[in-house]
Amino acid sequence: MLFIKEYLVNFSVLITIIYLSGFLYKQILVNSGKKFIELSLIVIAILGGWCSMFFGIHLNDSVIFDLRFIPIIIATMYTRNPLYILLIGIGIGFTRFSFGISDAAIAGFITLIILSVVGMMIYWISKAWPVYTKMIVVVFVMNIVNTFSIGFLGVMPIDEYLSIMVPSSLPINIILSIFLLWMVKDLSDEYVYKIDLLNSSRKDPLTQLYNRRAFMHFYDMYTSKKKNYSPLSIAFIDIDHFKKVNDQYGHIVGDVVLQKVSQIISNNLRSVDIISRYGGEEFVVILPLCTKEDVQRVIERIRYTTETHPIVVDHLNISITLSAGVATSPNIHVKQLLQKADEALYVAKANGRNQVAVASHDDSIHGMVARSN
Ligand code: GH3
Ligand code: MG
Ligand code: MG
Repeated sequence: MLFIKEYLVNFSVLITIIYLSGFLYKQILVNSGKKFIELSLIVIAILGGWCSMFFGIHLNDSVIFDLRFIPIIIATMYTRNPLYILLIGIGIGFTRFSFGISDAAIAGFITLIILSVVGMMIYWISKAWPVYTKMIVVVFVMNIVNTFSIGFLGVMPIDEYLSIMVPSSLPINIILSIFLLWMVKDLSDEYVYKIDLLNSSRKDPLTQLYNRRAFMHFYDMYTSKKKNYSPLSIAFIDIDHFKKVNDQYGHIVGDVVLQKVSQIISNNLRSVDIISRYGGEEFVVILPLCTKEDVQRVIERIRYTTETHPIVVDHLNISITLSAGVATSPNIHVKQLLQKADEALYVAKANGRNQVAVASHDDSIHGMVARSN
């Protein structure tokens, strides 16, 4: 029964390492470069294999083994670069020598290289397979290769070795491999699901722009004193007479128009600008480190592009125009930017629409003569 206890210890070590690597990924690695993430995961996989060797499982006095091969199985299942399977195999193989150089260590090293090569082959042939088919093949083939490879490398009499390993360890190893792969899948699925959920709570489903809630979060962040984004500009953009578009073409076409206007806005702004759908046909943009002149120019470009490029929806050419109001700090106090940009928008509407109005610090609002007519 000793070997059950040792199995449990080994299994727990691998679970701990899988859990810790998931934790490190979420908390630290996710913000790092791709190469650093990959390198870290390779090192963790090698450490996992090495740790397993500290807790040998004694099947009898002469047959001792461990679960060092499981990181290679996990890599075969989830890596995007087959070379990493080999690197992990070589890495774990070398750590075996930290327990002394012997025939068994050399056999262990060779087995890990064979396993890695088999893993790379499975990686190549399984590209179009469903995930569960790949999982079953990876687990069965690699466990069988592992068991037989050690046996045939002649560290101990093959009959004795296989007669002990095949009925007892092989089935247990297969079950544990499936369980650990399943755990890794669960951890990564949960992470992806969480990110999706986070995005969907911050994004408007129609335009994929930030929603009002996310906007308020960014607005508070950019207007707080923690970091200086001055000159900070806010622009309110509203589609003129959008109700008429809905009335004339229907709401489905209206929705497409909203999407295309969102694209025009996004295409004309920098990646650091925060674009959100504030309400129905109203958009609001935060432009950090953007002067009054620059925001005027860029929003005018958006207005002009919209006016001069009718929106094409199902062979319909729909001409629309935009009105906008902009405000910039420190000219306008940072806490008043939203309100002043909104007031400027109303001035643009009142002055006949299809124009950009600029809020000024003396409470007057300058309508930009932005119409092309
Ligand atoms: P103004 O020039 O004064 O802004 O006139 P307007 O017609 O654009 O403004 P109003 O506020 O009267 O109407 C806004 C319209 O936007 C009414 C509503 O049906 C439409 N709208 C709001 N959200 C959506 C949406 O998600 N999809 C569609 N298709 N229409 C929407
Ligand atoms: Mg409108
Ligand atoms: Mg409106």
